[in-house]
Amino acid sequence: MDGNRYDAIVVGARCAGSPTAMLLARKGHKVLMVDRARFPSDTISTHILHPPGVASLRRWGLLDRMVATGCPPIHTYAVDFGPFTLTGAPGTDEDPVAYAPRRTVLDKLLVDAAAEAGVEVREGFAVQEVVFEDGRVAGIRGRGQGGGGTVTEHARVVVGADGLHSLVARAVRPEQYHEKPQLLAGYYTYWSGLPMHGRFETWVRQERGFAAWPTNDDLTVVIGGWPFAEFEANKRDIEGNYMKMLELAPEFAERVRAATREARFVGTAVPNWFRKPYGPGWALVGDAGYNKDFITGHGMHDAFRDAELCAAALDQALAGARPFEAAMGDYQATRDGQVLPMYELTTEFATLEPPPPQQQQLLAAMVGNQEAMDGFARVLAGMTSPAEFFSEENVMRILAAAA
Ligand SMILES: Cc1cc2nc3c(=O)[nH]c(=O)nc-3n(C[C@H](O)[C@H](O)[C@H](O)COP(=O)(O)OP(=O)(O)OC[C@H]3O[C@@H](n4cnc5c(N)ncnc54)[C@H](O)[C@@H]3O)c2cc1C
Repeated sequence: MDGNRYDAIVVGARCAGSPTAMLLARKGHKVLMVDRARFPSDTISTHILHPPGVASLRRWGLLDRMVATGCPPIHTYAVDFGPFTLTGAPGTDEDPVAYAPRRTVLDKLLVDAAAEAGVEVREGFAVQEVVFEDGRVAGIRGRGQGGGGTVTEHARVVVGADGLHSLVARAVRPEQYHEKPQLLAGYYTYWSGLPMHGRFETWVRQERGFAAWPTNDDLTVVIGGWPFAEFEANKRDIEGNYMKMLELAPEFAERVRAATREARFVGTAVPNWFRKPYGPGWALVGDAGYNKDFITGHGMHDAFRDAELCAAALDQALAGARPFEAAMGDYQATRDGQVLPMYELTTEFATLEPPPPQQQQLLAAMVGNQEAMDGFARVLAGMTSPAEFFSEENVMRILAAAA
């Protein structure tokens, strides 16, 4: 390596970027991480971190720091389908709870952990261009906020952890697959005086879905959404449409009316796709490589999983233990294998169409069956694969117990 060359440059420093950079640095690699944002800062996200994400923080030695921010644990998930509610525990004995740390809190904690691991962190640095040499990615070109000219940095690999609108992905044009359009438009805000008592509550209604859970500073996130087809019409009166939606669960609407709104409404709609997450001199992690609707709130722990898988593969390639293609091919295959069933379920939920009749029958059969309801909560939490939970054997067991 020459003096100004890194093993890896990571573009983006939030849920995907900071852990990837941190894990590579912990393996002894020389890492530069840049982000045009400065930290702490917010980003668009309702930030429920299901137990698999909490488990990642625990493995990385960062859970105590997050808990110390005063973010309340969430031990119960309740899904109200109208005629009945399924209430279960989302975790396991080892990782029993979820948390919803504000991104101002969590992302800062992750950036700091990367810096402590030895990552060179440049905040307020916007990448403008990916540098190609001899047909492969060789570095980045960008500019810091504090003036000065354009800077070029070289590395053996550039990791795009730069989110949904990834500049790195636009430059390398990865293959995109399993694509689906925007399905849902969702809006959220924060409320005080709306205690949740450790519960993640969600309501499923005709062409509407909404949910609430607690976060830092005694605030509660309330998000709700409607089909993407209504995006244009409803954006003229977001507050009115949001409050009208909550009326579909009158008791909850009353709780919200008695609470105080502490922030403006934020919302969006996102497309769904997978991208091939590697190629000559580059890799993608987090939303840059795999994006899906936020209705199930899996983006952050999926980004954590990518970070672990990608950093392990890159470590093997950088250390010469395995060819880059083989190691990164495993990263892609493992990622896709682990998330595809949940991707299908997430995009099904995001249509806000009633579940197919067989699924409705199964959901109704779970009422009062605590083991089944815990299993369902663990599916929503990403602890159990939908493929396993909805296997014929398990479905038959639940139906038999109900009969
Ligand atoms: C409305 C909504 C609600 C959501 N709710 C949840 C939820 O409850 N739970 C959950 O797990 N997930 C949720 N998600 C998804 C989750 O927020 C994302 O999956 C997660 O933030 C992805 O992390 P990331 O690090 O890949 O990307 P990001 O968090 O988007 O971070 C990308 C970073 O890259 C930086 N960057 C981009 N371009 C450049 C550039 N050119 N130069 C330098 N820096 C750059 C940005 O500044 C940013 O800091 C939600 C998403 C939305 C839209």
